[in-house]
Amino acid sequence: MYYSELAETYQQIEATTKRLEMTRFLVDLFKKTPSEIMDKIIYLMRGKVLPDFKGLELGVADKLTLRAIAKATGFSEADAMQKLNSYGDLGLVAEELVANKKQTSLFSEKLDIDKVYSSLEKIAKTTGNRSQDMKFKLIAELLHDSEPVEAKYIVRSLTGKIRLGIADMTILDALAIAFATKEDHARIEQVYSFYPDLGSLGKTLSLQGLDGIKDYNITVGIPLRHMLAERLNSIEAIMEKLDGQAVFEYKYDGLRLQAHITPEKVSLFSRHLEDVSAQFPDVQEILHESVKVESAIIEGECVPINLETGEMLPFQMVSRRRGRKYELDSAVEDFPIKLFLFDCLYADGVDYTQQPLLTRREKLSDIVTPSPRVELSNLINTSDQAEAEKFFENSLEAGCEGLMAKAISEDSFYRAGSRGWQWIKYKRDYRSQINDTVDLVVVGGFMGHGRRSGVYGALLMAAYNDAQDRFETICKLGTGFSDEMLVSISDMLNAIKLEHKHPRIYSQMKADVWVEPKYVLEVLGAEITFSPIHTCAFGELKEDSGLAIRFPRFKGNIRDDKSPEDATTTKEMIDMYKGQLKQI
Ligand code: AMP
Repeated sequence: MYYSELAETYQQIEATTKRLEMTRFLVDLFKKTPSEIMDKIIYLMRGKVLPDFKGLELGVADKLTLRAIAKATGFSEADAMQKLNSYGDLGLVAEELVANKKQTSLFSEKLDIDKVYSSLEKIAKTTGNRSQDMKFKLIAELLHDSEPVEAKYIVRSLTGKIRLGIADMTILDALAIAFATKEDHARIEQVYSFYPDLGSLGKTLSLQGLDGIKDYNITVGIPLRHMLAERLNSIEAIMEKLDGQAVFEYKYDGLRLQAHITPEKVSLFSRHLEDVSAQFPDVQEILHESVKVESAIIEGECVPINLETGEMLPFQMVSRRRGRKYELDSAVEDFPIKLFLFDCLYADGVDYTQQPLLTRREKLSDIVTPSPRVELSNLINTSDQAEAEKFFENSLEAGCEGLMAKAISEDSFYRAGSRGWQWIKYKRDYRSQINDTVDLVVVGGFMGHGRRSGVYGALLMAAYNDAQDRFETICKLGTGFSDEMLVSISDMLNAIKLEHKHPRIYSQMKADVWVEPKYVLEVLGAEITFSPIHTCAFGELKEDSGLAIRFPRFKGNIRDDKSPEDATTTKEMIDMYKGQLKQI
């Protein structure tokens, strides 16, 4: 299959903002793709060569790519640079220069998917001294054989800027329609929740239809999508929701890790399902020593602590440590951590995800030997509200964020990838309703003036509507930033800016600049009000109005442990609005 067919679909997708239309283009593409390369097509479409959790990024530097474009087209680097300055998009530069190539060659071969995929794979995997030369050569070769449109997408893929705005759920939809029926989406999504490798699933579906995915099992080394929590703002409401009896655990303020353990290897996955093993050699060692089974998948929160006092420290210290890839040894010493384990999903060949919470917890305590560096999360199992309130106070005292309440009913399974009322968070902030923090996604920017000229003066923020899979605006955020922060946030946003509003953004307000929904910021709000402009929960509580946060203030935290889909949801905003009313 020729790469031009994929590039054509990219163009169609780029030209639409309608999800249904996007799905249709994907279905057409999937139907004509030979089964053997179905996985490659899917990885390429996501700007990757492997599933996300393999951690293999293309991310070639702009400079190197620019040199390769110049080499392949016969233009000078200065020419290419000048174009880049005016277009701001290396993909467009490649498209134009390839279209006006100065040297035409007789020996150009039409690019097929295998060729592009294998070159990109080599580029991603090449490391070491001579890697820059190797990459340069491979890129120049690809561009030499490219048509202009192909060059645009190859360059965007290489530099990590393919950004077509296709959500994983849209790909699942298209796979269901192409190889089963639309109604089978749920069944496929269920497998995806414990085996989130879209390429592998797509290939199997294409080869064997729905029957093929029956053979997928929870697998050590393949991260499961994490189970998520709803939120409520009183113990009373929680008790009511959980039928009068529940487990309450301390809600630790750290970084969630899912550990996949075998005697040979301990792999650690973040909430984004990113493999973060290399950043936590100490956690690997702790788990290697304290988990006494052949194989296991367990989950917990990793919290920075003061080793002398055992005191828990602010979460930022783990995220700071995560950034310091190259100073790992000192980071391990400077920011020691402790693990608080709370779930067991798999042990020695047995899948525990379909077992009730207390059975999983029992298994966890069977297989883990506690030490000063690893413990099971502190919990009570109670029907007594006063006892739960007291436990909440204790958790705050201990440096935690609040409590995580968990259902203990027969069907209190581990629901991979879903947010439900089986787990309910109860945080300190909810005590004063109008002092609540929420995690919002940046979807656009407004240019600053005066002291803020040249950077963004305010950001357009959105909540995530998980039912519609889109980002709905809720406030303009311009307070709480230091000058340095604004500069660095502006740089971060400029790197992901878009020409049009992203198809998953639902906004009536027009930002000066639209960006890819990517960064999640922690925002403190004073009050939730109705707004005729913001689109969060538009029309749901009041005709022609959405919800807005009044007096939003940036708390200083970029939640890089959260993906945009982990942001506060529209539904949570509705619940918070209703909770706020009750208080008044
Ligand atoms: P939030 O990040 O506010 O949406 O809250 C959910 C997160 O709380 C989970 O993803 C975990 O990282 C964290 N957490 C802390 N303690 C626990 C616990 N005992 N059980 C489950 N999750 C916990």
